[in-house]
Order: sequence, then C-alpha cells, then structure tokens
Amino acid sequence: MTHLLHRAIHSRLPVAVRGEGIYIHDSEGKAYIDASGGAAVSCLGHSHPDVLKALHEQLDAIAYAHTGFFTTDVAERLGDRLIEDAPAGLEKVYLVSGGSEAVEAALKMARQYFVETGEHGRRHVIARRQSYHGNTLGALAAGGNEWRRTQFRPLLIETHHISPCYAYRHQHEGETAEEYGERAARELEEKILELGEDLVMAFIAEPVVGATSGAVPPAPGYFRKIREICDRYGVLLILDEVMCGMGRTGTLHACEQEGISPDLMTIAKGLGGGYQPIGAVLLSGRIFEAFEQGSGFFQHGHTYMGHPMAAAAGLAVQEVIRRDGLLANVVAMGEHLADGLAKRFGQNANVGDIRGRGLFQAIELVENKETKAPFDPVLKVNAHIKREAMDRGLMVYPMGGTIDGREGDHVLIAPPFISTKGDIEAIVDRLGAAV
Ligand code: PMP
Repeated sequence: MTHLLHRAIHSRLPVAVRGEGIYIHDSEGKAYIDASGGAAVSCLGHSHPDVLKALHEQLDAIAYAHTGFFTTDVAERLGDRLIEDAPAGLEKVYLVSGGSEAVEAALKMARQYFVETGEHGRRHVIARRQSYHGNTLGALAAGGNEWRRTQFRPLLIETHHISPCYAYRHQHEGETAEEYGERAARELEEKILELGEDLVMAFIAEPVVGATSGAVPPAPGYFRKIREICDRYGVLLILDEVMCGMGRTGTLHACEQEGISPDLMTIAKGLGGGYQPIGAVLLSGRIFEAFEQGSGFFQHGHTYMGHPMAAAAGLAVQEVIRRDGLLANVVAMGEHLADGLAKRFGQNANVGDIRGRGLFQAIELVENKETKAPFDPVLKVNAHIKREAMDRGLMVYPMGGTIDGREGDHVLIAPPFISTKGDIEAIVDRLGAAV
C-alpha cells in the first residue's frame, strides 16, 4: 500500500530505478525510451555526465542560501546567460521552482506593473481555450480547459477565453493560413473592446500549444498581429514557454520563429532538463523600471527561489546545449521525426493531423477522418495508447483535450535533444505498434 497520493490514484506504475541517455530502466530490468522527456522536460536525457558533475560540485560548495541574505555566483551566471539569449527587450530574470510558479509570478508582475503606473482598473486577463498554464489557483484560472477548472470555481483572477489558433480545427475551407491567423488574432481585439479598453491587464498564450492540444503551432502572422493588438491597447503580452521553450522547437525560444518579443515570458521544464525543479520569468526593462521607480521591489517571493542546486542544473544544461550545438540536432531530428510520423501514420484512418515544430510533434486521433469527429471520451483512447506504448518500452505523452466541448485525443512526442536518427526510428516504430 502506498502513502503517496499520486500513486494511490494512478496505481500500478513501474518503479524507475535508473536513467541513462534516452532510457529509463525500471526495477524489473525493463528499459523504456523516454520519447516524451517525461512531460517535455528531459531535454538532455538522463544522467548526463556534465550536468551531474556541475551538480556534485555545487552540492560540495553550497546547496542552499536564502535570497534574502545572499546571492550566489551560480544564480548570477544563470541570470546573465538567460538575458544574453533572451528575446529583445527582456532584461531581468526572476527564478522560481517550476512552471506554475512562473506563471503565477508573471500574472502578479502584470498586475503590479499597472498598480505602479496608476492604471488600477486593469485587472482582466485574456487567455485561450485549450491551453494549459499550470495548476496553482492563478495559473489554473488562466488555463483554458474547462474540466480542470470547473470544480475550483470561483477562480481567483478574472480570466476570459478566446479561441485557440488551431488550423486543423478552425481554419475555414478556402481561407489561407495567413487569413486564418489574422481572423483568429482579431478575436483578441474584440474581447478587449468587449471588456473595456482600459480594463485588460494581460493576454497569455503558449506560442506552440503543448499538453492540452498536442504541439499545435500558430498560423503564420498570428502572433505578429497579437503583438500589434496588445501594443495598441496597452495590454501586456505574456508568452508561456514552459513547455515549448528552451530549444524544444528548434530555436531557443519558440517566439523567435514568430518574429516577436513578449513583455513577460515564462520558462521551466527544459531549463533544468529535469535535473532540478526550476522555472523563471523573464521581464521587460519597462516592467522592471516601473517596479524600481515605484515601490522598489516585486511584491512576491518563495523560499526556494534562486536555489543554487537548481541554478547549477539550469546553467549546466544550457551550457551543454550551446557547446554541443544541440539546437541544430533538434531541427534535423525534428524533420526526421515529422517525416517518420507522416510515413507511418499519414494513411491511418484514425490519425487526423500530424503537426509540431522541432522535437515537439504530435498526432491527433479521430474516429472519423472526414468529419474530424473525435473518439467518444469513454473509450479513453489516449490512456490505452499510453499503456500499449509502455508495454512496448516507450514513453510518449498522450492526452485528451476538449475540442469545442468534446474530448479529443492526441499523442505528444518530445524526445531528448541528444536523440539520434536510430532513436527517432525506434520511437516511430514502437509508437506505430502501440497505436
Ligand atoms: N505552462 C505550461 C505551458 C505547461 O505545459 C506547464 C506544465 N505542463 C505549466 C505551465 C506548469 O508547469 P509545472 O507543472 O512545472 O508547474
């Protein structure tokens, strides 16, 4: 009998005892290819020697120093590195312990910014349906999956949802991708005008939607239009790159491919590659100046922010990615994965869409390819695929997401950046068998 709540609910899990490269080994000696990096976390695979070395050295030096008393060289170096590589205009870093904490802090930064600048009325947040921003109460309010939120109402912040930019489901016949992107972005403007131009504080979105929709990339021009609308109405743009960021899509930040910069950006998962819990908010110079000239600080804090072990993991992971030129491998292996999925599933009667960027790809499963009707949720198609894949020694990330009020199924594939051609072929083979 287990005393762990998550085990009590998800019973019958294998026991992980060792990780090595792209593999996790269980207590019965079975090896699993970690083709989802857990949940798009383990970007360098497991037990990477350079990361382990950095962690051992940090542990020997100092494991914890409260940020109210000290800074540490390792946290300072990570901050410098993140800003050196940041999208234009992002000038400061706020280190936390994970994705939800980062989203929570970003929402509070947006609110405090408007309090400091005297626009007290700006309190509404606009987000998108079928998005995931975390499970703490603020982040949950921003997320766009109704079934996750409903039992926790009333939620703490006023969030209003617009449609996701989701070409497979929402692009009209005869409409170009650009026209669709423009139409989807206009919904933001309509929502701002409906709520009141001076009352909206922020728009939050994942550049490439991850967990709840399965690697859905935006239509071309969508985010440029979103940026324009945010600027026109003085709304802060928060990009949540917790899942799609830190190299996963082939550029360090997914927003680079959209040609825009946010006012606030959240990162986590791949930042520390799973070696330590870590997340961060990157904020613009303008927001920092408002804090500096206003109350002089950001009204927020956590006991473990800037944790030296977490910073050491983040710094080591990011250094290996740069040193070994792994973003180029993400692009090359991403193409190989996309080709493999197209060959294996292109003719499958129940695979409606294959999509993604870099090593962030997904297939969407449908009951009827012509009508795009999803499977009945009682069939639990995604849960069956997960089990079949685990039986075949493959970790992928199947999920059900709500499609216009109905459940849908997809399988997310997010292998480590160190994957080789042979690894990618093995992943596609095992997934084919499982599906
Ligand atoms: N934002 C996004 C886009 C995510 O994918 C996730 C995690 N799946 C989170 C926020 C929350 O991160 P965490 O689970 O580390 O709190």
